[in-house]
Amino acid sequence: MDVLEKLVSLCKRRGFVFQSSEIYGGLGSVWDYGPLGIELKRNLQERWWKAMVRSRDDIEGIDTAILMHPRVWEASGHVGGFVDPLVDCKTCKGRFRADKLEDAQCLRKPSKHPGEFSECQLTEPRQFNLMFKTHIGPVEDSAAVIYLRPETAQGTYVNFLNVQQSTRQRVPFGIAQIGKSFRNEITPGNFIFRTREFEQMEMQFFVEPGTDMEWFEKWKAWRMDWHRSNGLSPERLRYHQHGPTELAHYARAAFDIEFDFGGSLGFQEIEGIHNRGDFDLSRHQEYSNKRLEYVDQANNKRYIPFVIETAAGPNRTLLALLVNAYREEAVEGETEGRVVLGFHPALAPIKAGVFPLVKKDGMPEFADKLAHDLRKQFPVFYDESGAIGRRYRRQDEVGTPYCLTVDGQTMQDGTVTLRDRDTLQQERIAADRVADLIRERIGA
Ligand code: ATP
Repeated sequence: MDVLEKLVSLCKRRGFVFQSSEIYGGLGSVWDYGPLGIELKRNLQERWWKAMVRSRDDIEGIDTAILMHPRVWEASGHVGGFVDPLVDCKTCKGRFRADKLEDAQCLRKPSKHPGEFSECQLTEPRQFNLMFKTHIGPVEDSAAVIYLRPETAQGTYVNFLNVQQSTRQRVPFGIAQIGKSFRNEITPGNFIFRTREFEQMEMQFFVEPGTDMEWFEKWKAWRMDWHRSNGLSPERLRYHQHGPTELAHYARAAFDIEFDFGGSLGFQEIEGIHNRGDFDLSRHQEYSNKRLEYVDQANNKRYIPFVIETAAGPNRTLLALLVNAYREEAVEGETEGRVVLGFHPALAPIKAGVFPLVKKDGMPEFADKLAHDLRKQFPVFYDESGAIGRRYRRQDEVGTPYCLTVDGQTMQDGTVTLRDRDTLQQERIAADRVADLIRERIGA
């Protein structure tokens, strides 16, 4: 079975990801995050926020609205150009992305791609706009049409001067944001890889024209380092440079960071780094009739800054983390193997499992108190049911890096065993040192 299939089932069983509206038969390619999934996603987003905003003095955070003035999307080029080529099949009534036929399956003969089966009748490609339309207010006429944003970046551009002036930042500086985006993708799928509602972690870095390629190279390297720092295997990560035909019309240079998802997906983009030149700010200046220049008082210059954008997706990156972390292992001396999610400890949803060895002799009370104390610092899971081996396995399967067991010796000397998820090594440590030790090891 494909790792992705195994992950879909593990994610549902253990509460990472559920299908949206499942009791009604589900809504295609829309997913909800369960108790463990939201912890993992938050940890990922917080790591991004810390790396991009909190630990730097040249990037500010922002959180802009999903609904924006419709003119924004004319200026950005989305109304005219945010399209994918769509083909219909007159035989099976399927709709496919003309440039991704090799990723799609013929609905009549799933072993073939659309167009390959003798009965396929594909139409000529036509342009399909990916923006979701809705109406603002109670009147459903064309004047009230509004879009769900297909990217967070435009909310940042229209606030460029608000942020710059309120924070008194000087170019070069950046603005970062995490938020939902919506795209009416023609062929969503592969679990949470491509969905119509998703999140983005985007940062726009404003630089003086002429210095843009230098910054582009820096961001390209920093963003790869960040993905590696999350534990993604270096051999599963690579750059993909956009060639002239792939390059968006406004982009001066673009590289994707790709992760190898294995199976039929293989290497796919998880983040894009783009040199967007002055396209966005110039267009907003033109369409809004408001000056969006930066005034460099020290050097007596004014100009429209160039933008280096880093655009990552937490959902897709979370899938990469799951694929990267999943392993099935034989355990020495045991017939049953174990499934492990070997997350980086800082990303793991639960940091420690706390178990009394048996349900008597004061062990549950001691363990419960330990769990209660630790919970003030990081998420822990208390479990007293079943054999100890099974309790370890349950934590391995959700990626908990440490398990603490309270046993007979604890009752005498106040020490507990600390078991490491990856090495399976156990060490005895004083219960009152556990919190510091774990915090140190997870880097929190
Ligand atoms: P693709 O070519 O895969 O459609 P894109 O090049 O349009 O992606 P960007 O606009 O650069 O993507 O978006 C930046 C990031 O947002 C992507 O690297 C990805 O992680 C995430 N992303 C984009 N579209 C989706 C989607 N439909 N579902 C989940 N994540 C997405």
